[in-house]
Amino acid sequence: MCGAMAFSPINKFFSLFSHDIGIDLGTANTLVFVKDKGIVIREPSVVAKHKKTKRVIAIGTDAKKMLGKTPASILTIRPLKGGVIADFDATEAMISHYIKQVHEMGATLPRLLARPKVVIGIPSAVTEVERRAVWEAALSAGAREAYLIEEPMAAAIGEGISIFQSTGSMVVDIGGGTTEIAVISLGGIVVGRSIKLAGDDMDQSILHYIRLKNGLIIGEKTAEDIKVRIGSVYQKKSKVEMPKTKTSEATGKGTEGNPHLEKMMIIRGRDIETGLPRSLKITEAEIREALAPIITQIVQTVADVLEETPPELLPDILEQGILLTGGGAKLAGLDLLLAEKIHMPVVVSNDPLTSVVRGTGKVLEDDALLERVKVIGGLR
Ligand code: ADP
Ligand code: MG
Repeated sequence: MCGAMAFSPINKFFSLFSHDIGIDLGTANTLVFVKDKGIVIREPSVVAKHKKTKRVIAIGTDAKKMLGKTPASILTIRPLKGGVIADFDATEAMISHYIKQVHEMGATLPRLLARPKVVIGIPSAVTEVERRAVWEAALSAGAREAYLIEEPMAAAIGEGISIFQSTGSMVVDIGGGTTEIAVISLGGIVVGRSIKLAGDDMDQSILHYIRLKNGLIIGEKTAEDIKVRIGSVYQKKSKVEMPKTKTSEATGKGTEGNPHLEKMMIIRGRDIETGLPRSLKITEAEIREALAPIITQIVQTVADVLEETPPELLPDILEQGILLTGGGAKLAGLDLLLAEKIHMPVVVSNDPLTSVVRGTGKVLEDDALLERVKVIGGLR
């Protein structure tokens, strides 16, 4: 590790007193890492605003509780929906809220001395203009210096992938609003793709499926609960061993899931015809069917990125395996399905919801690394 020139002794001095922080500004969740402390904040990326005055009423968990329940005068927003900044004021409010919150966690020193250095992980589809705006927001929220890094890069660093080497690595990060796929080599993204198809779309898919098939209206929150509790994408093979032929493996057909091993769940919603509350039993197999169109597209995009990957990097990826991370990586069987469809080993992060924020934490502590991976930032 070598100290970068950009960091003056005076800045080093300041950092002794401030809580330098790393932020994962995700489409679904915002996480904050504080140097020497670890992850101190994990909250949904939701902001509630007063419709007329545009005043921010609540941020994070408090705001998420209001989702779908707000009166006409309150608006709940996901500021980064789809991986772009859909609402800048709300994004800014969120950034400054968390920076200030950390700031107040134990600042006994004068504020001027305690101004933190901030590293923010942002979805890679965020435009140059928006990046600049996020950077400005961090500075106006009290950051001494602010840096932005791309989330797939942060995720790779968080998982301990040595990004400086000429070894190619592939990261698939399935979040709430976006799935980010990146091939990394020599400290840069060689091939990258960000698609607006991720956890939120899975929830929508479940919601529509249950409405169409069972005539039951459920909310987004219920749909997400179903996904987390019984969602799966890979058909378990029945106990009766099937002959392992290529075709039956590839299509997944002919090996009916064993109904006794399948999870199920009772949900409540509103009957589309009577308008009255009704309960319904749903099974893992149904949810697998509901999720299939989304999963197929995600898998196809991974295959597309692999096709664009320089052939010299393929053996490395084949050897290391593809890193699967983000909340969507927790979907049961996704690693197996992906491995089967693209003929590559897949490794799931041990803690997929924190890969990016842990990466920002590592970058905070390593100036040379920061210099190499930052996409924007520094002193004003
Ligand atoms: P982002 O980086 O976009 O903020 P996250 O990486 O925090 O997103 O992941 C959030 C997404 O992961 C949500 O759509 C959530 O429903 C989903 N998720 C969380 N846990 C699970 C789980 N056990 N199974 C499937 N999806 C999950
Ligand atoms: Mg993320």
